[in-house]
Amino acid sequence: MGKNSTHWADDIAKKILERGKKHVVATGITPSGNIHIGNMREVVTADAVYKALSDTDTDTDSRLIYIADTYDPLRKVYPFLPDDYDQYVGWPLSEIPDPDGCCPGYVDHFLNPFLKSLDNLNIKVEVFKADEMYKNGDYNEAIKIALPRRDEISEIIDRISGKSSYSSNWNPFNPICESCGRITSAKVIGYDLDEETVEYSCSCGHSGVASIQGGGKLTWRVDWAARWAILGVTVEPFGKDHAVAGSSYDTGVELSKKIFNYDPPYPIPFEHILLKGKGKMSSSSGVTISIEQMLDILPSEVLRYLIIRTKPEKHIDFDPGIPLITLIDEFDGLLEDDRLRELSQTKSSSVFFARIPFGHIVNAFQIARGDFTQILTVLKRSGYDVSEEEMIKLRSEKAGKWLETFAPNSVKFSLQKKIPDGVKNLSSEQKKALLHLSGYMDGKSGEEIHDEIYKISEELNIKPNSIFKAIYMALLGLKSGPRAGWFLSSLDQTFVKERFIEASDR
Ligand SMILES: [Zn+2]
Ligand SMILES: [Zn+2]
Repeated sequence: MGKNSTHWADDIAKKILERGKKHVVATGITPSGNIHIGNMREVVTADAVYKALSDTDTDTDSRLIYIADTYDPLRKVYPFLPDDYDQYVGWPLSEIPDPDGCCPGYVDHFLNPFLKSLDNLNIKVEVFKADEMYKNGDYNEAIKIALPRRDEISEIIDRISGKSSYSSNWNPFNPICESCGRITSAKVIGYDLDEETVEYSCSCGHSGVASIQGGGKLTWRVDWAARWAILGVTVEPFGKDHAVAGSSYDTGVELSKKIFNYDPPYPIPFEHILLKGKGKMSSSSGVTISIEQMLDILPSEVLRYLIIRTKPEKHIDFDPGIPLITLIDEFDGLLEDDRLRELSQTKSSSVFFARIPFGHIVNAFQIARGDFTQILTVLKRSGYDVSEEEMIKLRSEKAGKWLETFAPNSVKFSLQKKIPDGVKNLSSEQKKALLHLSGYMDGKSGEEIHDEIYKISEELNIKPNSIFKAIYMALLGLKSGPRAGWFLSSLDQTFVKERFIEASDR
């Protein structure tokens, strides 16, 4: 994308500004498990629009808020939870202990690493926790509006969603049962608006009275609409599942207008991120990549770029194998004034223009066996400017993690300290080629070595490929490896020379 074409975030910002200059961009996720790369799209999309709003007009007053649905119930014992967590199914997440015992509670355990990742991604949000909002009384007015208008609310939801699940004992408010602790099984049987309490009866057999302040929560379709008014939300991205006809956004629009007397926010429905081979990512399935894992292998600016380069309505394929290298190189190739680069910017990316292909860092990492000083030496040998040490360090850490996790075997190698036995099977032409190279390489660039290999192949009347194979066998004990010219130029020349002479003599 060039400097003059507009980015989708700027297009959206323009439309939003037609509605006014004061904006609250809202985003939120239920922290029921590791918050994964699929969820990330919502936050990055919101942040891109928020930044575009701030860039477009200096008079705008915008906020970016993040609401964690901490008062939602635990739906089931997820695969990552201990079996005895069945006792907490139905409890609000905020009331459940940390399964690993390292944080004050369940919510912190999954939310805190996510908030740290947001910081890495240069996303600054004001955080709201739903349980605190309910306990602080932020929802009191909305609950008092909703309780007497139960039938009207139920009619709106049934009519728009096409469901008829709202029976006579349905209520927009779900109390927490003081006996069993669940927020999913007690039904409202009466209320007192002056006392701000509800009477309930629970399927566990208990009946009691709960305060509307913290003693329960609105059902989620009603909660969502109420929240818009409470927080003054004007813009909200959400997964496209919430945007289909009859969805929670549709019911939210009417609930917001008719019940809470508030104009619903500008919607930004977005498609899913599909992890190659794994399909739609969902935190309840257990097969996911968390955002922290993603940030281990992808530079934060590239993770932003992955999301920001695609319009929200298009799905994103993410393949953490070889295409990850292409993605990083593509980002590094963006011009300094490219809007995509601006919107993808994080703290660490603002200075890096060294342009070392990520694949070369991956190879250098393996040649140097992860030793950073050696990595710098290897890169310098192949002609790269290594003055931006901090950035190269960050990138080589990602390379190391990637090699441990998602890198396919085809890119992995290790320089063999002892000459591999396989060299015995090399043909006499292959051995001649190695001997020739041993006398040629000193001080030559990768490209020169590459050209020389082709020249030798003509002279010896063998295929270049058979020389490549001889090189990989002598150094790696493999039939394939990194691009040969570059690879040879990046190695210690004395070592290679001796190895090739030794190999040609076997
Ligand atoms: Zn913890
Ligand atoms: Zn109960």
